[in-house]
Amino acid sequence: MGSPPFLCLTSFLPWLVLPFIRIERIFVEEDKWFMSVRLISLASGSSGNCYFVGTPEYGILIDAGIGSRTIKKRLKEYGIDMSRILAVLVTHDHYDHVKSVAVLGEVYHLPIYSTEKVHLGISFNKKVTEKLSPANMRVIENGVPFEIKEMKITSFPLPHDAKDNSGYVIEVGDKTLTIATDLGNATSELRAYIANSDYLILESNYDEDMLTNGSYPEVLKRRILGSNGHLSNADAAQLLSESATDKLKQVCLCHLSKENNHPNLAVETVSSQLKTKTKVVALPRNEAYCLDLI
Ligand SMILES: [Zn+2]
Ligand SMILES: [Zn+2]
Repeated sequence: MGSPPFLCLTSFLPWLVLPFIRIERIFVEEDKWFMSVRLISLASGSSGNCYFVGTPEYGILIDAGIGSRTIKKRLKEYGIDMSRILAVLVTHDHYDHVKSVAVLGEVYHLPIYSTEKVHLGISFNKKVTEKLSPANMRVIENGVPFEIKEMKITSFPLPHDAKDNSGYVIEVGDKTLTIATDLGNATSELRAYIANSDYLILESNYDEDMLTNGSYPEVLKRRILGSNGHLSNADAAQLLSESATDKLKQVCLCHLSKENNHPNLAVETVSSQLKTKTKVVALPRNEAYCLDLI
């Protein structure tokens, strides 16, 4: 004699319902992951640059221009263990961006992403004494998107007097973060990326009066002011007044010069020209700053 129809249904019910519960849970967990994505600036300026994007579960670094111990310590303050870092994206081969790239590659076994020219530049950079082995190099091409877990990343060229220099657009969930540092002038490509960004890290290196009247040697002043040098407060202000849209929630001004700039001056110069309600902050040189990408 077979089971009554009621018993048959109840014994099948969990198997019918379970997959839907599991699928729903996965979506909720992914949503939570996207909701808790953070940008943490670990250091910003000519003495070292390093940014983290991710959650306490995992994330990536952009540049590694400070010591690996400092990176580890500052991440730990936000509950992030080094074992959670999946990769390092490098903008260019200047020492304030690559100081600990080899240590992160060789000791922490992290893949280091940059263009071929930047990898070559790092190899020939005499200040970088430890070298990165080819096994830990990942060669990217500007304009060709790639993915690291939930993050879709696209690099694009920026004019600077390094072997090569890339900005990065990181799309995670429905948010877009653009990073553009160490650039002599703004390209039309950068303008288009800014117009589509929710968050932006943008160089605001110097105040023109402070630089021209300051103590730097003339050669260095010309280098910084040149079209392959750095972006001034006024340059950043003009670029944002022309390119920022209401989508842009916050801009973090980065790579501020210690001698030729002041955080308040940079923020005021940029804010005074903005036509949007974008929040403007200046990233500290030697301490962490955290922003939730909500
Ligand atoms: Zn730099
Ligand atoms: Zn540079």
